[in-house]
Amino acid sequence: MIQLYIPLNFLGVIYREIKQSLTDLNRMFTLMDQDREVADAPNAQPLPLNDQPPEVRFENVQFAYDPARPILHDVNFTIPAGKTVAVVGPSGSGKSTLARLLFRFYDVQAGHVRIAGQDIRDVTQTSVRRAVGIVPQDTVLFNDTVEYNIAYGQPGASHDQVVAAAKAARIHDFIQATPQGYETRVGERGLKLSGGEKQRVAIARTLLKNPPILIFDEATSALDSANERAIQNELRSAAQGKTSLVIAHRLSTVVEAHEILVMDSGRIIERGTHDELLAAGGRYASMWNMQNAAEVTDA
Ligand code: ATP
Repeated sequence: MIQLYIPLNFLGVIYREIKQSLTDLNRMFTLMDQDREVADAPNAQPLPLNDQPPEVRFENVQFAYDPARPILHDVNFTIPAGKTVAVVGPSGSGKSTLARLLFRFYDVQAGHVRIAGQDIRDVTQTSVRRAVGIVPQDTVLFNDTVEYNIAYGQPGASHDQVVAAAKAARIHDFIQATPQGYETRVGERGLKLSGGEKQRVAIARTLLKNPPILIFDEATSALDSANERAIQNELRSAAQGKTSLVIAHRLSTVVEAHEILVMDSGRIIERGTHDELLAAGGRYASMWNMQNAAEVTDA
């Protein structure tokens, strides 16, 4: 548990790192009350959600972290309710920025980010962050038990719920094999987990939170192909019945997406399904051919 006596400037540093790495520590925002860049509009109401996943829409979005350097230019896309849209493109093209805007870490300078038709600036931040679950690239683990680290997704979750989430994220067997099972300590001063295992803990956390919208920021670090396939399967089951945005570094992850957006320098330069983009013979097709050629060479 974060001790309240940690100096606030130190929390500020952690906060900035978390925001940059897209970590899913919503509770920390409340605790720190440092989230000054966005604020609830007067009389903001919670997002009106029912038990169906909502549509997500970016409309003519322009965004800059620094007004002198525009990052996103007129970005338009829709993730239909319950579908998956994947974003690919070179490093720095603006993929993670889309995710940060959907979580409302920042407000757009022009255009709209909408959930269920509502501009997210008009509803409470708490309700947006409750509706959106992030599986980040690099999960922050606390120096605490595995149980605590998974239950962090849903404070007050029962042990049975934690186990069910761990099973769904296919990390249960691994946990059972550790010296003290769910009571094993992890993190810097405890058991070290591999990138794939950490990402599974993050999936379990998110499954426990059970948000209707999922952002999956695929790890850039190389996973072996068995681990990669396993994570993809877990992702597929986590995304079932949710509206999902996948930031993909490996194209194999995006093949089944409802739509793939290819970004370059903050613009969507191509869009379509995997088959459509391959047939178009443009940037995506050459990325696909290059990645496949690299895999053949690596084999
Ligand atoms: P990667 O694949 O490497 O994760 P990306 O496509 O996700 O890259 P973004 O992280 O969205 O790229 O960054 C888009 C641009 O915004 C980059 O030029 C980056 O330098 C810039 N940028 C990102 N975060 C900030 C920030 N907090 N302040 C200023 N500029 C930023």
